[in-house]
Amino acid sequence: EKPTIYAITPTFARPVQKAELTRLYQTFLHIPNFHWIVVEDSEIKTKLVTRFFENSSIIYTHIAAATPPNYKLGRNDPNWKKPRGVEQRNAALRWLREYLKVTDRGIVYFADDDNTYSIKLFHEMEKIQKVGVWPVGLVGGLMVEKPICDNVTNKVIGFNAAWKPDRPFPLDMAGFAMNARLLLENKEAMFSYDVEGGYQESEILRHIVSRDELEPLADCCTKVYVWHTRTEPPQLNVEQLLIKKGKRSNVGIEV
Ligand code: UDP
Ligand code: MN
Repeated sequence: EKPTIYAITPTFARPVQKAELTRLYQTFLHIPNFHWIVVEDSEIKTKLVTRFFENSSIIYTHIAAATPPNYKLGRNDPNWKKPRGVEQRNAALRWLREYLKVTDRGIVYFADDDNTYSIKLFHEMEKIQKVGVWPVGLVGGLMVEKPICDNVTNKVIGFNAAWKPDRPFPLDMAGFAMNARLLLENKEAMFSYDVEGGYQESEILRHIVSRDELEPLADCCTKVYVWHTRTEPPQLNVEQLLIKKGKRSNVGIEV
C-alpha cells in the first residue's frame, strides 16, 4: 500500500498568494494519497485561504501560525536576513506528531508555495525508507544543486552545493523528504530561529538521519523534478493610484 504524502506549505498574504496556491493545488490533485498541510503566516485563518479550500477537492489541513514580529522580515529587508517558514513548519510538525499513529505509513515533505513540482517527484518519494534526497533546480546560485550519487553503490558520496558547502546537510528544503515515523521517534527534530541562515535543513535532519543513510532518488540524483522558482512581485503602480482615489480594480473580485 502506498504511503500518504504529507506536504507542508507555509504561505503568507500577498498579491500572488492565490495564484501560487492554485498552481500547487492543480499539481497536487494528481497525486493519490496526498494530504496538504497549509500553514498561514497569520494570527488567523484568512478568508482567502479558507474559501480556497472550501472550493477545493483535496485532503487538507489548514492551520494559522504567525511568525513572531521580531522574526518577521521587513518590507525592504533582504530575504537572507531572517529565516522564513520556521513558525509554520514547526506548527505543522506539532500537528503531525499529534495526528499520526505509529503504524501509519507516511512521508513528510516541505513544499514552499512558490516552487515548481513535477508529479514524478511524488512517485519517487514513495520509495523512501528513512530520508530521500534529490536534485533541486535553480537554487544556490546553480542550475542544479544536488547530492552526488555513486551509481555503483547507489549511495550519496557528497554534494555539489556551492553556497555554504560546509553545512552538515547542504540541501535545499525542497531537496529531501522523510518517513513520518522518524518524526515520532525523534521528538526534538524541528526548525529553529537560533541557527545561521541556510542551516534550517541541517537543523531538522541532524536529529533524524546521518549523511551516509541518505537515500538518493530521481535516478541516482540525475533528474530534476523540483525547481526553486521564485515569483516576481507584480507591478501594482497603477493600483496604488486607484487605491488613493478609492477605485480599486478588485472591488468585489477576489484575485
Ligand atoms: N513565507 C511565510 N512568511 C513570510 C515569508 C515567507 O510564510 O513572511 C513562506 C513562503 O510562502 C514559502 C516559505 O515561507 O512557502 C519560504 O519562503 P520563500 O519562498 O520566500 O523563501 P526562499 O525561496 O527565499 O527560500
Ligand atoms: Mn521560495
